[in-house]
Amino acid sequence: METAVARHAFDELMVPVYAPSTFIPVRGSGLDLWDQAGRRYLDMTGGIAVCALGHAHAALVDVLHDQARRLWHISNHFTNEPVLRLAKVLTEATFADKVFFCNSGAEANEAALKLARKWAHDRYGTSKTRIISCLNSFHGRTLFTVSVGGQAKYSDSFGPLPPQIAHIPYNDIQSVRAAMGEDVCAVIVEPIQGEGGVFPADVDYLRELRRLCDEKNALLIFDEIQSGMGRTGQLFAYMGYGVVPDILTSAKALGNGFPIAAMLTTESLAQTLVVGSHGTTYGGSPLSAAVAYKVLEIINTPTFLARVTEAGDTLRAVLEKLIAKYPTVFSVVRGKGLMLGLALTSAYAGQAREFRSAAEKNGLLLLVAGPDVIRLVPALIIEDKHIHEVDVLLDKSVKTWLATA
Ligand SMILES: *Cc1c(COP(=O)(O)O)cnc(C)c1O
Repeated sequence: METAVARHAFDELMVPVYAPSTFIPVRGSGLDLWDQAGRRYLDMTGGIAVCALGHAHAALVDVLHDQARRLWHISNHFTNEPVLRLAKVLTEATFADKVFFCNSGAEANEAALKLARKWAHDRYGTSKTRIISCLNSFHGRTLFTVSVGGQAKYSDSFGPLPPQIAHIPYNDIQSVRAAMGEDVCAVIVEPIQGEGGVFPADVDYLRELRRLCDEKNALLIFDEIQSGMGRTGQLFAYMGYGVVPDILTSAKALGNGFPIAAMLTTESLAQTLVVGSHGTTYGGSPLSAAVAYKVLEIINTPTFLARVTEAGDTLRAVLEKLIAKYPTVFSVVRGKGLMLGLALTSAYAGQAREFRSAAEKNGLLLLVAGPDVIRLVPALIIEDKHIHEVDVLLDKSVKTWLATA
């Protein structure tokens, strides 16, 4: 018999970096989650844009079982068949020629930033070290990636921080022109800022970043950890923008919840990282690669991606309707495909978490993106019946919330 556990054990046993919800999910299927008491929830969070194919996807469960019986882990002293297959399809599907696999988004960005610094160092000497990033961006929680990320609250008390990092306002061409110089080795940007409030970049902005990077011999890094793997209706968001980075990072949906991340780059840049210059124990393990291969195979078809766009449009229409009905509460919908943010009006500023709690009481799981934005990043396999249920539950949740606010 397994030991019975309850939510209070979290407060007793866990380092308190999270404040999890009051219930414990124990089982999932598609967009449904059930807690210990057998209560069902409609999951519009997808494990924070991770479970793109939903919970317990049958084909992924099969692949995981098959590979687990064969080979889990062998170290990077050997290569393995699943990782080579995955690298082949990832490079065929994107601008990239080479891939480095690791285990989390932060690690993929860490690899990208290290590559940029070493590339500039090897090629131009010690003075080209500055990294430009955007305010409110999120790039992970290692010391380097929180420093590059544009939210001081995540890095403030951990100093001294790595130097030579500049933060500029997102989507602001003038600021990046002013900040750009010969000493810049890389510009890193999320094509759609996720955590920061679901802000899509303007196409002109990304084009200008590309042009400035070319002009100043700096590398353009797209962090597609949240926006990638089909979420916007394109395999990666850069494809919809028609602006190609030098380095792209992917994680989250890449493994549908099995930890795997990737840094994609070109043939010539990849040569910067020679044998022994970077690495990780678990990166590209047979088990994670076998799962990611299947995820990519399912997502990267025209039919699947077209459906993401269609479902995104339907969900957006539901949110627009909600704004029309409650114009004093909600102001705007932002995002692309199934990466949507619903912003609260200034009258309700700072209350996104309260609304999320009201929704949870009604069996609807939502995310926030900062204090003022409700974020919806459901599994990409969402059906119209789910979207209809979201419509009903959101309306109910607004009523519950306003009644108690
Ligand atoms: C989630 C996220 C990360 C960090 O990924 P982890 O796997 O938590 O390290 C980095 N960048 C973006 C844009 C993200 O959404």
